[in-house]
Amino acid sequence: MKIFVINSGSSSLKYQLLDMDSSLVMTTGLVERIGEAMGKVEQKNWPGSAREQEIREERPFSDHREAMMTVVELVTGQDTGVIASRDDIDAVGHRVVQGGECLLHTTRIDDEVVEKIRSNCPLSPLHNPANLVGIEVARELFAVPQVAIFDTQFHQTMPPEAFMYPLPYDLYKELKIRRYGFHGTSHRYVSQQAAQMLNKSPDQINLVTLHLGNGSSMAAIRHGQCIDTTMGMTPLAGLMMGTRCGDIDPAIIPFLMREKGLSKEGVDALLNKESGLKGICGMNDMRDIHAAIAQGDKRAALALNMFVYGIKKYIGAYLAITGPLDALVFTAGIGENDDVVRRQVCSGLEHLGIVIDLDKNTGRKKIATAVQADGSQVAIFVIPTNEELAIAQETLTLLS
Ligand code: AMP
Repeated sequence: MKIFVINSGSSSLKYQLLDMDSSLVMTTGLVERIGEAMGKVEQKNWPGSAREQEIREERPFSDHREAMMTVVELVTGQDTGVIASRDDIDAVGHRVVQGGECLLHTTRIDDEVVEKIRSNCPLSPLHNPANLVGIEVARELFAVPQVAIFDTQFHQTMPPEAFMYPLPYDLYKELKIRRYGFHGTSHRYVSQQAAQMLNKSPDQINLVTLHLGNGSSMAAIRHGQCIDTTMGMTPLAGLMMGTRCGDIDPAIIPFLMREKGLSKEGVDALLNKESGLKGICGMNDMRDIHAAIAQGDKRAALALNMFVYGIKKYIGAYLAITGPLDALVFTAGIGENDDVVRRQVCSGLEHLGIVIDLDKNTGRKKIATAVQADGSQVAIFVIPTNEELAIAQETLTLLS
């Protein structure tokens, strides 16, 4: 069974083709800057596939339809492809960011599901419309089952005291204002991997999972179920991120509008694109921040310290609600690759039973690795996330 996984963003299209029988990623690719003067497509056919190679082409893509047509040509082309025709694809799995309260589980896509995804656009105006474009084009091009997997679905097990905001209750009923949480596919994937590493059934384990990338979030997992997460109604809440502020005093928003004459769009852009690590030190990539610290940049050091401090505070909070912790799990770009962040996050948590082994922790981790010291009560795992594989597995499970 061959599953095509599509992650359609506002100006990008990520894709993977997976052969589920042999567990092979046949190809993986990305179209960027769709709708701009010049775009780019990159495709990497996996080593071991029939046509092992990398393709890179710069050209404009007027819209997602054109991008998807190009992708189909690349995936099926005589010189570039890994399958003979699009008919060889058995199913398509789509990442959808916001499922809201009407789409709680992985779902086969029909017209009704499309309308429900559309009804959630006000809650996720940047992502859901882009996800819908990908779905619409894929439904036209591939006459096979299409499945939607929602970033929010793993967090649907949160109890009301965790997902409600202390705002007038009618706003929840009228506008569905509540915590939803995101990165759910990643949190679920690494928690399942952690269960395997612990040799326990997923419903027996208590975890804190840390998805630390350009966007960052944490989840508190009790008996295998998410009971709280740092992101909120939108992915702006919680941890400080590359360019997003995370938690701030909400009164800062009207204050900024008054004092700086900012519009609501202006505040939105400031909090989403100019804040976080970038807001503090002008850089949002942790590699650049480490390099700047080595040169004595004090703002870069402050940004790193703030990032780590915020994570530690949430670990403390989540330990109070998960019960005895089995493992702390690091994943995503920073979590997998940045041994300094992992070391600093764990430093000082020894009294909580969390003791990292500095040698085991050293370096980037390309495969799941245990990095706790001998005798640490809590395991510390670094587990590379694989959202595309998780989406393909969900698709396969639903269809079979
Ligand atoms: P993601 O959003 O999961 O793709 O993560 C992207 C982020 O991971 C980048 O912005 C970097 O901050 C970080 N990152 C990637 N590779 C490394 C590395 N080798 N060391 C430190 N940070 C890294």
